[in-house]
Amino acid sequence: MANKSEIVLITGSTSGIGLAVARHMAEAGHTIMLHGLLEPAEGEKMASALAAEFDVRCGFSNADISTAEGARQLVSDTRESVGNPSVLVNNAGIQFTASLHEFPAERWDAVMAVNLSAPFHLMAECIPAMRDANWGRIINISSVHGLVASAQKAAYCAAKHGLVGLTKVAALENADAGITVNAICPGWVDTPLIEPQIKALAERENIAIDDAKARLIGAKQPMPVATNPAAIGAMIGFLTSEAAKTISGASLPVDGAWTAQ
Ligand code: NAD
Repeated sequence: MANKSEIVLITGSTSGIGLAVARHMAEAGHTIMLHGLLEPAEGEKMASALAAEFDVRCGFSNADISTAEGARQLVSDTRESVGNPSVLVNNAGIQFTASLHEFPAERWDAVMAVNLSAPFHLMAECIPAMRDANWGRIINISSVHGLVASAQKAAYCAAKHGLVGLTKVAALENADAGITVNAICPGWVDTPLIEPQIKALAERENIAIDDAKARLIGAKQPMPVATNPAAIGAMIGFLTSEAAKTISGASLPVDGAWTAQ
């Protein structure tokens, strides 16, 4: 683990991978800023429950980070609620599938805004204080689609490849200040994000949900099982530790050998 109790801001942390990261980091004693598009009362309730379960401080913001102002609002909410983030996990992400020549322009803009521009704005907001402290950890949740392509995912692939490039630039620029910046590139992870694709296949082929899931995952991953989100939490625990202080600018696949092919 990191040396002391860090202040960990995780975007999109009220479900899926982000929530698993929040739980892992809370269990290790860190202060957590939860974030997601929930009603304030619901988000505050989640934050209080997490704080009570692990005896840590925990805040919540529902800032919409699809604009630069929203991203700035999230950092300002974090500073007000729990303090200056020393660990930033850019995890929030959305998906839309369509052929490139039929891709609605507004969906392209929305995917780019949340998956690529938000991490840019959040890093820009958080890096100056990390540089002042001569310590910081940034982890960007990209995807295997930051390393290879799939049909129907023009915006998602472009944004996730962009995030890998942005990670490398941030790592280079801040290597002098004890800040590491890495990307994690998951294949299939068991979260609400993948459910629509499983349901669509089950309906299209008239097969059971479990069969659709196995078929969908097995079509891409030599290991035909989804990653448990807790594994990503554990990776982030390691990347924020002293032992990982020279791992920077890396894009780490967690993909059942998908990108080894
Ligand atoms: P999820 O849908 O469970 O979580 C996404 C989170 O992002 C939610 O908390 C949601 O509230 C938040 N969010 C979305 N748009 C937002 C906005 N405009 N403003 C603020 N918050 C917003 O999905 P997940 O599977 O946990 O995905 C987390 C990350 O992991 C994403 O970046 C995704 O692309 C990536 N990823 C997921 C998988 C997978 O198989 N699940 C694979 C590779 C990469």
